[in-house]
Amino acid sequence: MIESMGLGGGASSYYYIPEASGKSSWCGCRMQQVSLNNHNNNNNLNLSLANSQQAFTAALDLMPGGVNSPVRAFKSVGGQPIFIHSAKGSRMWDIDANQYIDYVGSWGPAIIGHSHPKVLAALAETMQKGTSFGAPCLLENTLAQMVIAAVPSIEMVRFVNSGTEACMGALRLARAFTGKPKIIKFEGCYHGHADSLLVKAGSGVATLGLPDSPGVPKAATSDTLTAPYNHISAVENLFHHHKGDIAAVILEPVVGNSGFILPKPDFLAAIRKITEENDSLLIFDEVMTGFRLAYGGAQEYFGIVPDLTTLGKIIGGGLPVGAYGGRRNIMEMVAPAGAVYQAGTLSGSPLAMAAGIETMKIIREPGSYEYLDKITGELVNGIVEAGKRAGHPMCGGHINGMFGFFFTEGPVNNFADAKKSDAHKFARFYWGMLEEGVYFAPSQFEAGFTSLAHTPDDIQFTIAAAHKVLSNI
Ligand SMILES: *Cc1c(COP(=O)(O)O)cnc(C)c1O
Repeated sequence: MIESMGLGGGASSYYYIPEASGKSSWCGCRMQQVSLNNHNNNNNLNLSLANSQQAFTAALDLMPGGVNSPVRAFKSVGGQPIFIHSAKGSRMWDIDANQYIDYVGSWGPAIIGHSHPKVLAALAETMQKGTSFGAPCLLENTLAQMVIAAVPSIEMVRFVNSGTEACMGALRLARAFTGKPKIIKFEGCYHGHADSLLVKAGSGVATLGLPDSPGVPKAATSDTLTAPYNHISAVENLFHHHKGDIAAVILEPVVGNSGFILPKPDFLAAIRKITEENDSLLIFDEVMTGFRLAYGGAQEYFGIVPDLTTLGKIIGGGLPVGAYGGRRNIMEMVAPAGAVYQAGTLSGSPLAMAAGIETMKIIREPGSYEYLDKITGELVNGIVEAGKRAGHPMCGGHINGMFGFFFTEGPVNNFADAKKSDAHKFARFYWGMLEEGVYFAPSQFEAGFTSLAHTPDDIQFTIAAAHKVLSNI
């Protein structure tokens, strides 16, 4: 049933602690006890981050902003990012040997916990046979069968290397299938960094305060229409004004890229109906929600079946993967079955397939999502209650292993509502929690994630830390 790999798990509670403390050592997991100080940068924390700071200084000279993906740079909470040495179960250790309970989970993939022994064993075994062939291998069939069996809308699937690629491919296919040029996306939804989708794209862009990216030609986004999330009549208006021109509506069925935002009860059904009536396709971007909200994703959870679905994150079990899939008659337009070109040197990588297969075998065990629901509900309710008790306007929510909270009264139904959250307060909360040994996403506009490895004790520890921090900010 539930594999628990958190604290107190007997032999499995012995994890490697990095060299930063002076010498390598194996030791039992104990939360680092650090006292709270109110800071919104890490220059004078009680947490020692000297090695991370040194590494980041070096990185700034080597990579733009010192990172390979913008939100990692901690810009929206101030200070500098923490360099991770290793991760196991619900925990991560930085290169200064501080330990954290991790609620980022590599931004979603780590739903069974980090470094699960079965995933590591599958990777080790697969690796012995070679890391990449550029030719078909059996693991691709296995993962494809699992994805098709799990996700209601998917009859055929194409594996790619990232969620960005999956969304690019799905859009090209939707335009080819319908013969129409335009797409509708929602403000605050992120579908990767392809040119045509980099319009009002949520967290990464919002965090940096860039309304759009320089370098994206106007022509690339001129067929991208946007509407506020949860706003059905705005979508109806777009269909009215661009009659016969809309190839697809793409959306996050639960938003995670401008904080955690739920669809209103009728929203997804209404979009399904409008797209059907107009011979347009509905694309669920389930890169985040796939296998996260339910084994069959948001479409299973809400009972709404899209035409195309994009996946990523969890299906790679922590290795780089994306996928898009849908009805057979649509997917058979993809090359070489059809004329819509899309390719990838490393697509279907045996290592990524192996990690995805093991991850999915574990998460599909009975009881997994019930467990995630229980601990995540306790977590969010505990944090919001702690905030309210300390006099902070707060709201929050969760579905199974995905959650979020805002420093505003709410309700938060779209990106404009999310932006009312007090980002300065979030930053103080963020650093306070980090000092307590809790690692959240370093931005108010990101969802959080739990895993099967998070124990009830992890949750209680986090809530206690939140009480302490929230009453001091
Ligand atoms: C993460 C994410 C993407 C992009 O995936 P990458 O693998 O980072 O390219 C696309 N859509 C959604 C909803 C995501 O959460």
